[in-house]
Amino acid sequence: MTVDLHNYVATVENFPEPGVDFRDLSPLMGDGVAYKQAVDEIADFAKDLAIDLIAGPESRGFIVGSPLAYALNVGFVPARKGGKLPREAVSASYTLEYGGENVLEIHKDAIKPGQRVLIVDDLLATGGTINATREIIEKLGGVVAGVAFIIELKALHGREKIMEAGDVPAMALMTY
Ligand code: 5GP
Repeated sequence: MTVDLHNYVATVENFPEPGVDFRDLSPLMGDGVAYKQAVDEIADFAKDLAIDLIAGPESRGFIVGSPLAYALNVGFVPARKGGKLPREAVSASYTLEYGGENVLEIHKDAIKPGQRVLIVDDLLATGGTINATREIIEKLGGVVAGVAFIIELKALHGREKIMEAGDVPAMALMTY
């Protein structure tokens, strides 16, 4: 039996600022059946991509990426917010959807040249987070084998931004 994942998205109007409909995935992540189904569906997409690693941006990318890595028998690489990693790291900065700048970092030895990496996150908005993660992976010599999301916000054209940096297989379980 499968469930309709749309029923596990809480839409919060005017958050974090007026005019924005925030898609809160806490109900999905808090439900054993819906969470497992979402992870299994992304694992199904990933199984033919010959991936070596999953990478996910802090912090909801960790919630999607960790069970996926376990399901696929590959490692998980966190892309952490600036200044949190204890050892030598490579970074990239990007502009946030609601204004401002952010920095993501990955440990320098986390990805070896030629390794195929699937980037996952809970939601794709403008694509800034994913392109920064991609930039770091590529600086380290990794290959982005695909990108996957639980939700894609179509109106913000993140998918086009990702493809501008080079075509990769992309999937989202739900679009809004
Ligand atoms: P982007 O960099 O694509 O503009 O923004 C995506 C990032 O911001 C993701 O890491 C995601 O967690 C967060 N984000 C932006 N808007 C939303 C939203 O409406 N709901 C959720 N759950 N996350 C969002």
